[in-house]
Amino acid sequence: MARWSLFVVAFLAFLAPCSFSGGQQGGEPPPSASRPDRTTGVTQVLSIGGATIEVEIAAGSLDVQPSQILSWIERAARAVTIYYGRFAVQRVRVRVVTDSGQDDSIHGTTWGNVGGFQGVTRMRLGRHVTERDLADDWTMTHEFVHMAFSSLPDNQSWMEERLATYVEPIARAQAGQLPVRQVWADTILGMSQGQPKRGDLGLDQTRSWGRTYWGGAMFCLVADVEIRRKTENRKGLQDALRAIVASGGTIDKEWPLLKVLDIGDKATGTTVLVDMYNQWKDKPTTVDLENLWVQLGIRRSGTDGVELAPRAPLSTIRDAITTRP
Ligand SMILES: [Zn+2]
Repeated sequence: MARWSLFVVAFLAFLAPCSFSGGQQGGEPPPSASRPDRTTGVTQVLSIGGATIEVEIAAGSLDVQPSQILSWIERAARAVTIYYGRFAVQRVRVRVVTDSGQDDSIHGTTWGNVGGFQGVTRMRLGRHVTERDLADDWTMTHEFVHMAFSSLPDNQSWMEERLATYVEPIARAQAGQLPVRQVWADTILGMSQGQPKRGDLGLDQTRSWGRTYWGGAMFCLVADVEIRRKTENRKGLQDALRAIVASGGTIDKEWPLLKVLDIGDKATGTTVLVDMYNQWKDKPTTVDLENLWVQLGIRRSGTDGVELAPRAPLSTIRDAITTRP
């Protein structure tokens, strides 16, 4: 009976595997919400953005204190609440476990629809993760962004990753947790890895790491700029994503991708998302990134920094992207 229950949970749960260092966590079973857990005694409920976030810190020997872990989760929850105008789902669980094989790594995996929770995230912290590591971390925010988009079939899961990769730094910048220049410096550095390579069959068919994360993020940036150009900077991708959340297109649902994109398009009064998806899904689409940076007024500076030009053709669009609405 217990095994059957676990099977049902695993079958119904939707997985958003994430691991920046490339460790494959797909297929990992979700944590059972009903299983008794050994804890340090720290199980706390955070109420943020309309969500109830149950945080459980499992037994283990971490250098950081539970209060520091709670602050880190709270910060990430506030960033996504600012971006989406609310936390995407209402019932959330975050389980923090010690990753005994790693010293200072932070890995996250998120599932939808597990044991009565709409979103469940497991964070694996290396034993020697520091408070500084938590302050610099992006993964917790990334996992929460996953909760704000419908679960998709495997060949379209790049869309889940692309959104999380694109939205996470912008959400942190809007929350004042990441300098705007850092957002663009990292974007310039990373996005060239998203260009299609020889033999690419479009985003639905190409599963390389670079294309999944950065190819998708490139799709998002181009879509954001396009929406803003077409609406004279009155609407952006953020409006589309807020509408999708408001319509219930969150991780606990499995909706057809075109239905989700159509909701986003209606919110901006454009057809940018559906049109772009139809163009990018099964053919390699190379973006003239160098020209895009010129248009947006983003210039490389030093080894890994940028300067932001105040009067480039699209500098108002660039600024609107990272400005809290
Ligand atoms: Zn992810």
